[in-house]
Amino acid sequence: MALIDTHCHLDLYEDPKAVAEEAARRGVYVISVTTTPTAYVGTKALEPYGSRIRTALGLHPELAADRVHELELFRRHLPSTKYVGEVGIDGSAPHRHSIDRQGRVLTSIFDMCAAAGGKTISLHSRGAAGLVLDLIEQEPLAGQFILHWFSGTSAQLSRAIKLGCWFSVGPAMLRSERGMQIASRLPMDKVLPESDGPFGMNGRKPLWPWEAIDVAASLSAAWGIGTEEAQNHLAGNFRRLVADTDRG
Ligand code: MN
Repeated sequence: MALIDTHCHLDLYEDPKAVAEEAARRGVYVISVTTTPTAYVGTKALEPYGSRIRTALGLHPELAADRVHELELFRRHLPSTKYVGEVGIDGSAPHRHSIDRQGRVLTSIFDMCAAAGGKTISLHSRGAAGLVLDLIEQEPLAGQFILHWFSGTSAQLSRAIKLGCWFSVGPAMLRSERGMQIASRLPMDKVLPESDGPFGMNGRKPLWPWEAIDVAASLSAAWGIGTEEAQNHLAGNFRRLVADTDRG
């Protein structure tokens, strides 16, 4: 079974180096997302030699409004990776006030990605799914879009599916009834596993990158297929994602 985690904050675990080394030892494919361009360099240094860990360049929406100046650093690092994330817009109560500025930052990032020929982008859209989809529609050449832990409305979900978005889902997301409702509507060929560790939790412990694939059990229930079949879908999807990333 292929171990895959398409959204993990390796640098935010208590012992990032130990988690990166264990992920490498187990052969986990990891998209290691970052929250600022400043953190990118140090996080990229966590990639053990020859591992399947790929570090994404990010500017998290909860930080973006205060760090517009880091867009310059973002531009400088962008040629060194095919993966971008975590980026997006957060429209929840504590961050709604900066939603316009967040939108401008995401627009700049999408423009840079399009100018670079397209990147594979892990997107946060809590409380702002409609806005994020608007920006995807405006700059489809930014690359491949992965909606991480999607929690939009049913109409927004339909729109995202029509736009050809990928969806990364994890064991923590599918523990809720709402998460399962969304999962049951996701196209089987567009779903990817994620841990969102260390924020994604398994009880009181953070989810590890090698546990993201456990989401196949919940997906098999949502889709009415066997767990092994769900695992095969996830692995096949990831292979296509990577092939398109490498082509871009
Ligand atoms: Mn995250």
